[in-house]
Amino acid sequence: MKTKDNLTNYHLESLLIHGKTNSENWDYSHHLVPPVSASATFKLDSVERGAQGFIEFANNENPEGADHRPIYIYERLGEPNKNILEENLTLAESGEMALTFATGMAAISGILCTLSVAGDEILHHHTLYGCTYSLLVNWMPRLGIKAKGVGFYDLDELRAAITPKTRVLYFESPVNPTLELIDIEAVAGIIRDENLKRGDGRKLYMVVDNTFATPVCQQPLTLGADFVVHSLTKNIGGFGTDMGGAVIGKKFIYDLLLLYRKDFGNTLSFHSAWTHLVYGLPSLNLRVRQQERTAIMVAEFLASHPSVEYVNYPGLPSFPGYALARKQMKDPSGNFAPGNMIYFVLKGNSPGDKREKGKNMMNSLASNAYTVTLAVSLGNIRTLIEHPGSMTHSAIPAEEQVKHGMEPGGIRLSIGLEYHADIIADLKASLENS
Ligand SMILES: *Cc1c(COP(=O)(O)O)cnc(C)c1O
Repeated sequence: MKTKDNLTNYHLESLLIHGKTNSENWDYSHHLVPPVSASATFKLDSVERGAQGFIEFANNENPEGADHRPIYIYERLGEPNKNILEENLTLAESGEMALTFATGMAAISGILCTLSVAGDEILHHHTLYGCTYSLLVNWMPRLGIKAKGVGFYDLDELRAAITPKTRVLYFESPVNPTLELIDIEAVAGIIRDENLKRGDGRKLYMVVDNTFATPVCQQPLTLGADFVVHSLTKNIGGFGTDMGGAVIGKKFIYDLLLLYRKDFGNTLSFHSAWTHLVYGLPSLNLRVRQQERTAIMVAEFLASHPSVEYVNYPGLPSFPGYALARKQMKDPSGNFAPGNMIYFVLKGNSPGDKREKGKNMMNSLASNAYTVTLAVSLGNIRTLIEHPGSMTHSAIPAEEQVKHGMEPGGIRLSIGLEYHADIIADLKASLENS
């Protein structure tokens, strides 16, 4: 047997570059890099082969015959660039399957709409990315699916909120934007207990948004989650050129999710799939490791600055979730991996004053800084700063934000690949101006 036939011997860092070398989706055995598969439709050898393609589509549970090579029909159903990216994402998160979508929101709405039906309830941690909150609060109820916010760090409160109708527990860890952590293994324990009680086969599932941590800082499926979702637009894409989303996890939902994507039509474009496959995923570990080295220095700088009230960064021993971070955030070699995201609040004599000072700081950066850019999104090669309260999380009513730990003055910082001292110098200058 060739050594490359047994991928279990190789490390995640290598798998992210080479993927499954014996992929049935790989039609390009002499290419070092997969070509951009720019073909919206595919040539069929015969009417029978076309018909067979439609029979086999989304019928992976009952495959006919031994030939598992896909019959490509039409880009919305599947094509080589997306399929190979999906194989590599499966490896990245140690899942059974992965399916990509046009955006992170398309992936999140996809998994929630396939797991739940009218009459079901979704319990979510109350602080979430703003559009996810809006999806749960404004759109799911129109489908007859109720969403309820709970504090997932309080396991008793979480246990008490589960009813026989609860279908999904949904959260981010670290939470966008506050960086709070939720104990994934503990939530898995609650789900195990609940499912033992359920006799009707209607199981409870855990969906974790792993966009902040990425698979090279945290592996939720290994910790007991059923599904992971990603905005590929962020850390995995890394360069900020393309949007994308993915659901990774258990196989049983794969066919239904494929049918959902076919009919709702929120398919990732071949070109975006190609950039995530060729640039994003292979460079992910290297980028995040470097950003992490800078993030700890920036977090320490901010924490020691007299104008800063507090800093939430999972790598700071003063961070309230530090012990949990050490337990569940690990790089592929098993070392502590607190990631590249920071949340902080400036000092002020009222919440409004802190917000004003933060605004001044960000405006000063927007006008003067070279290495820190005022922009939403995250996980980019450039360092990005933004104000969640009025930007990424503005869909959450202001009272709700404050009630659950999002201060009006909270600032989110995503560390890029610039030289650490330059980022710190730009931040320092802006603090002097605020
Ligand atoms: C940005 C983001 C999303 C949404 O992803 P898009 O690709 O912008 O649709 C979902 N979850 C988190 C945590 C995000 O930061």
